[in-house]
Amino acid sequence: MTQNSEIAIVGMGPTGVTLANLLANRGLSVAIFEKQSKPYALPRAVHFDGEVMRIFQSIGLGSEMSDTSRVNIGMLFKDLDSNILIDWSRSQTIGPMGWYESYRFHQPDLETVLQNGLYRFSNVKTFYNSAVRKISDDGENVTIELESGERHTSQFLIGCDGAQSNVREFLNEELVDLGFMQKWLVIDLILKNDRPDLGNHTVQICDPNSPMTYVRGTGKRRRWEMRLTDETVSKISVEDVWNKLVKWISPDDAEIERSAIYTFKSSLVKKWSRGNVFLAGDAAHLMPPFMGQGMCAGIRDVANLAWKLAAVINGADKAILNTYESERSPNVREFIDLTVRLGQIINQTSKSQKETTKMESILPSLGPGLGLRDNIEGHLAPQFLSIESDKADDLNPNGFYPLSNQKNGIKLKGVEPWLNENNITSALVRPDGYILETVSKNKMQNNINYRFDSKNNDLIKAVPSRKFIG
Ligand SMILES: Cc1cc2nc3c(=O)[nH]c(=O)nc-3n(C[C@H](O)[C@H](O)[C@H](O)COP(=O)(O)OP(=O)(O)OC[C@H]3O[C@@H](n4cnc5c(N)ncnc54)[C@H](O)[C@@H]3O)c2cc1C
Repeated sequence: MTQNSEIAIVGMGPTGVTLANLLANRGLSVAIFEKQSKPYALPRAVHFDGEVMRIFQSIGLGSEMSDTSRVNIGMLFKDLDSNILIDWSRSQTIGPMGWYESYRFHQPDLETVLQNGLYRFSNVKTFYNSAVRKISDDGENVTIELESGERHTSQFLIGCDGAQSNVREFLNEELVDLGFMQKWLVIDLILKNDRPDLGNHTVQICDPNSPMTYVRGTGKRRRWEMRLTDETVSKISVEDVWNKLVKWISPDDAEIERSAIYTFKSSLVKKWSRGNVFLAGDAAHLMPPFMGQGMCAGIRDVANLAWKLAAVINGADKAILNTYESERSPNVREFIDLTVRLGQIINQTSKSQKETTKMESILPSLGPGLGLRDNIEGHLAPQFLSIESDKADDLNPNGFYPLSNQKNGIKLKGVEPWLNENNITSALVRPDGYILETVSKNKMQNNINYRFDSKNNDLIKAVPSRKFIG
């Protein structure tokens, strides 16, 4: 059967478009299908973290993303008397990922940067107004049929088609409910007048009767999220919206950009793939937005999957793809579980407590997968800077690279203390920033068919050899 592209992607949300950039950057031919006539313009996500920024960096879009976002100062959980219960302030200096710990952004701006990124590649074809309605996988190729009746064949298909995923349906999979389901009203405002008194921290008002979130967005954007106690409400009038905001802001100071009711859910699919068809992003998992991690998780999914797909297309053992689910599922589960715990605090805490608890961001490791997990393997590697302040990932675009004290390699600041701290002599960083192996000089253990080529800093057989962005 003639292949129309090596990879087909269903859905042009942030997950699908990031994946298209990642794959195109590795020289693969990609077709991406979206049922809408244009990108989804409504803001949902407002936060991403330093790891996600590092992924944007890997597709050459780090500085554009940085220009459209704002360094996030953090989140405070308060009781009804404004006592701070939990202080999750974020560092205001560059962190271990080589970027700030946390950013605020406007989702349509982020999606525009990602979509414009695709114009750099002649090997990506985008198809709007193209709802995928049928999928078949003969073991060699996947064929999709669009609502128009047109067909498209590819070696692999990735369903990035969101919470209502058709691709998930084709896989006969369901999102398993992990116990959280609440209706929340989300109101986006644009300030007409400065309101510094609202503050720059995101605030979670913990209240069993009426929990609420305030988000300081980019520029003049501010968001309020409130739990709806009446689960039957499906629409809310402008007047009611202002009534709900009366304690904080009035039409004199802001205009409503939009308001929408969402059902916040926590769920995770059991099987992330079958044959040549994979799921990523909201198609595979959902979580409430209290940590701002839903989209981040999808972007982590595709950073994990993209280089493995490229490796297989370039001749690596297909078994490498089995590690996608085993590595990603436990990682996303940690974010879901913590988000749900925070959701419980927001929904329950009413009593004042004397002391403020300090909260730190989590950087969960990957589940079992490539390589052994004896030490810090499967954890994120820091992104060190060279003496000239170049970022280490940029010096090794798309490839694996070692972190070691070798005198002949590129000198990176801070590597030696980090190696000592972790009791290792060197480590090998994967293209998605996670540590594949910690190695002593002559030892390289592995459980799949790859070999480290120290001359080219590459894993032989597991790394694509085609062109990257020129
Ligand atoms: C109020 C709110 C606040 C949030 N805040 C944050 C936050 O701060 N940080 C964060 O990380 N996450 C946040 N999230 C979650 C985040 O918005 C989602 O996780 C993210 O948008 C999911 O991206 P996706 O690309 O996987 O799916 P989507 O963005 O849903 O994209 C899926 C795409 O697939 C298309 N599609 C569907 N079916 C088909 C088909 N059959 N054929 C072709 N195309 C199809 C759809 O039209 C859509 O464009 C928030 C969510 C909400 C609701």
